[in-house]
Amino acid sequence: KTVCVTGASGYIASNLVKLLLQRGYAVKASVRYPNNPAKTDHLLKLDGAKERLHLFKADLLEEDAFDAAIDGCDGVFHTASPFFTSVADPEKELIEPALKGTLNVLGSCSKASSVKRVVVTSSLAAVAFNARPKTPEVVIDETWFSDPEFCKEMKLWYVLSKTLAEEAAWKFAEENGMDMVTINPAMVIGPLLQSTLNTSAESIANLINGAETYANSSLGWVNVKDVANAHIQAFEIPSANGRYCLVESVVHSSELVEILRKLYPSYRLPEKCADDKPLATTFKVSKEKAKSLGIEYIPLEQSIKETVESLKEKNFLK
Ligand code: NDP
Repeated sequence: KTVCVTGASGYIASNLVKLLLQRGYAVKASVRYPNNPAKTDHLLKLDGAKERLHLFKADLLEEDAFDAAIDGCDGVFHTASPFFTSVADPEKELIEPALKGTLNVLGSCSKASSVKRVVVTSSLAAVAFNARPKTPEVVIDETWFSDPEFCKEMKLWYVLSKTLAEEAAWKFAEENGMDMVTINPAMVIGPLLQSTLNTSAESIANLINGAETYANSSLGWVNVKDVANAHIQAFEIPSANGRYCLVESVVHSSELVEILRKLYPSYRLPEKCADDKPLATTFKVSKEKAKSLGIEYIPLEQSIKETVESLKEKNFLK
């Protein structure tokens, strides 16, 4: 079978391409900079790449740019979307590429009669950010939606970009009778294949590279190998539908630091919280629906270890 992966040079997408090639797929991979070895070398070196990986140039904001990559594919994995937390112009740098880019990719999918299902990489960012209280008893599940007004008020621009993109994707899928599934992972960590540092792995690197404090926040975490597998399962299992939250565990930053300290006692890690407010409470995210994709999560401690080993190997640690 032939599938397309958009944004193939990225962190999650590279792991997805690796797994797709391992499972025998032919992969049409879209990248922004096909002539930049830093963005493509790691892909071209993957087992099976010589025989079954083809690169296509496509920018999210360029209309019809994805037609060639998507034409003739049985499935499409749309992962490309900017993930940055500090930006100068949120509309231009995050919201436009996320929202218009998603509609652009879905537009190309609807033109290609070969495409049976589209799997969109959304995020827990499009699920969990609204005014509903989050306490240790609360269980967030796929029925939750983030609230764009809440995101604007809190100036959570990346979260807003993912929320608007997923909303628009569902509207497009419904209007065009498209078989679409979304994968909604929490913060993704685990082995890096690419040669540039992505935002979620950077959050671990920062703690080791001399951060004075850890954030007063609780976040969900999941291993990139489970995320890649979930994407493929969501394509392959005929009954897969709707959204799938992916979270192995939710922990406060202080717990993350404790795990790092236990695994790497010689590292200098932050000792105090960024503020002296009460510690942000944790919450739960339902694992029920993801079970139907056959996902058995890699435990957080192992994911952290794999991340640090990979950051070391790629010289991202000071
Ligand atoms: P990366 O930054 O590694 O990947 C982002 C990808 O999007 C890159 O391939 C990048 O291309 C591409 N991209 C960005 N802007 C454009 C553009 N204008 N045109 C074409 N391609 C573009 O991040 P991740 O792998 O972490 O993110 C992948 C997806 O997963 C995103 O949709 C993100 O929102 C989602 N996600 C990530 C989570 C995480 O914790 N990592 C959690 C939940 C969801 P280039 O390499 O050229 O910059």
